[in-house]
Amino acid sequence: MKAPLITMNDGHQIPAVGLGTYQIRGGEGLDQILTAIQDGYRLLDTSTNYDSEGIVGEAIRRSGIPRSEFFVTTKLPGKYHHYEDALMMIQESLFRMGLDYFDLYLIHWPLPKRGLYVEAWKAMVTAQKLGLIRSIGVSNFEPEHLDKIIDETGVTPAINQIEIHPYWVQERMVEADKERGILTEAWSPLGRGSDALKEAVITELAEKYGKTSAQVILRWHAQRGIIPIPKSRNLQHQRENLAIFDFELTQTEIERINLLEKADGRIEGQDPNEYEEFD
Ligand code: NAD
Repeated sequence: MKAPLITMNDGHQIPAVGLGTYQIRGGEGLDQILTAIQDGYRLLDTSTNYDSEGIVGEAIRRSGIPRSEFFVTTKLPGKYHHYEDALMMIQESLFRMGLDYFDLYLIHWPLPKRGLYVEAWKAMVTAQKLGLIRSIGVSNFEPEHLDKIIDETGVTPAINQIEIHPYWVQERMVEADKERGILTEAWSPLGRGSDALKEAVITELAEKYGKTSAQVILRWHAQRGIIPIPKSRNLQHQRENLAIFDFELTQTEIERINLLEKADGRIEGQDPNEYEEFD
């Protein structure tokens, strides 16, 4: 099965579901990414910080599938926000992955206390002009961070990748992205092993549609216009996470899932205004 494609504000297309690779590493991780590719995944989400750029690139080569069929995303670490550092890191990541362009490159975190994300964004605009990156985007950006980079460069990100799951619904942020023409990606879309999969409303809808709880949650994302990038090492789970395009939740059901939101539902320590990368 393959995910349908969605067109971004720069005209490029992105698959509607991807594979997260956080903590998928080493030789075993390489095999797990390969099974996902064989199963139909084309959007692969990595980051310099995950130490999985090398195996993602290697899995692409070993798959025998043309590079052009993939949509590869990686992210800029916080210590490289200075303009020259960012340009260096983009090229270094390409060498690590053995690729000559990225489909999507993101600023991993805004780190507003350091205040260098506009510089990083300018480097990405340059890298896009050089052909090193097709689409440029951000991650964990709040509306004020989005406005600052847009105001200072005139370039709007294609994507904002943020934390979204049933305990952290993010209606305000998804709307903020939409107002600016930015597509939202959801990280930790299943709540990273939280109890969300066991919630009564989720299991009830899973039963109703003959789907799993994970499929109901991923479908909820898709119908909100959000691209989820679930992480799984397990072929069965990888397969079901991609098979979410043959059923439809009602608007009332989507709203019932929204009600699972908790005031402290965010994964601990992941507030974009506070989050720091120290290495
Ligand atoms: P996730 O919500 O994808 O949850 C992963 C957990 O769910 C794993 O324990 C997995 O075994 C389980 N799971 C997966 N499929 C399942 C299924 N069908 N049934 C039951 N359980 C299932 O959490 P995540 O890995 O934190 O997030 C996904 C991806 O998002 C990451 O791998 C990474 O690529 C990206 N991410 C980005 C940022 C960022 O700052 N931009 C932060 C965190 C994660």
